[in-house]
Amino acid sequence: MKLLIVDECSASVAFMREVLFRAGYTDIIAVSRFDQAMAVLAATIESDDPADLVIMGVDLPGHGGIGAILTLKSHHAFEDIPVIAVTQHNDEATLDHAFAAGASDYIVKPLSAIELRARVRSALQLRREMVKRMQRERELEKLARKLERMTNLDSLTGLANRRCFDDALVKEWVRNGRADAPLGLIMIDIDHFKHYNDALGHVDGDTCLRRVAEAIRSVVHRPGDMVARYGGEEFAVILPNTDYAGALAVAENIHASVARIGIEHPDSSVGCVVTVSIGVASGVPTCGTTPEQHLQAADRALYQAKESGRNRTRGISLPGPEDLRQ
Ligand code: GH3
Ligand code: MG
Ligand code: MG
Repeated sequence: MKLLIVDECSASVAFMREVLFRAGYTDIIAVSRFDQAMAVLAATIESDDPADLVIMGVDLPGHGGIGAILTLKSHHAFEDIPVIAVTQHNDEATLDHAFAAGASDYIVKPLSAIELRARVRSALQLRREMVKRMQRERELEKLARKLERMTNLDSLTGLANRRCFDDALVKEWVRNGRADAPLGLIMIDIDHFKHYNDALGHVDGDTCLRRVAEAIRSVVHRPGDMVARYGGEEFAVILPNTDYAGALAVAENIHASVARIGIEHPDSSVGCVVTVSIGVASGVPTCGTTPEQHLQAADRALYQAKESGRNRTRGISLPGPEDLRQ
């Protein structure tokens, strides 16, 4: 472990160096002034090999020793490095100030080898435990971020998953209702996807799902829009502040985008490439309706698109609660 000794008294420095070196601490840097100590600390942090302990003579000239501890400990990069104060004054006020400034321990001069070794050993023990705890915390934070991603993303396509979609739908429902703005919803279902899987297998089926997901995502641009994988081969799009005509236009762009990637379909009644059917609903959310009803309207429209021949869009415009109750 790396130790930094700061003391203007060269005899004290030599004594501490010798005692600690004999105790097995071989990585010791010693300086006589506080500004040198700060420079050394900054350099060790930069080279990713920070000091583990500072042993600081607080009778330093110029910087008022205790103030030096305070300066060091208030530096964000150094705040976790423990400091042992070394002083000639063992009056209560000096020690009180040293602890208040952030020292974790103190040694009173004249120095004793036994005391120095014992204090350094216990300070480094605490430091080791703290470093371990910080590493664990960092790992846990990383894991929490990963879990957060996993709970919101569909692992096959990288799109938002059903759970994330459901949350966003409620939020956008409330937000658009408050702003008196229309909320557009699109449901998309791949045509004859069972035949596709049966003919080519699930691996090709999964690749097809990924490519269709990307084709949809590439034409939904506005901030606040969300594309999600709603279920097996179904996708859903939330379009905040988008009226019926706007939502229909996005649906047409999706048809065109899926057509452009031109994935060959060996067994479809619609054509020789993969196509989708789309249901659209748009309207201003109102008190008498619910997000579920809005979604059901898009789903009904999707069913009509399937019924009327697939590879097309059907839509329902929802100007008010009455239309949803039909
Ligand atoms: P339609 O045109 O009426 O929508 O017919 P369809 O065959 O697409 O619809 P159906 O609901 O009968 O079948 C959906 C198929 O989607 C069933 C299953 O083989 C496939 N599927 C669902 N999820 C996945 C998946 O994650 N990976 C793969 N490869 N296939 C999936
Ligand atoms: Mg389906
Ligand atoms: Mg389908």
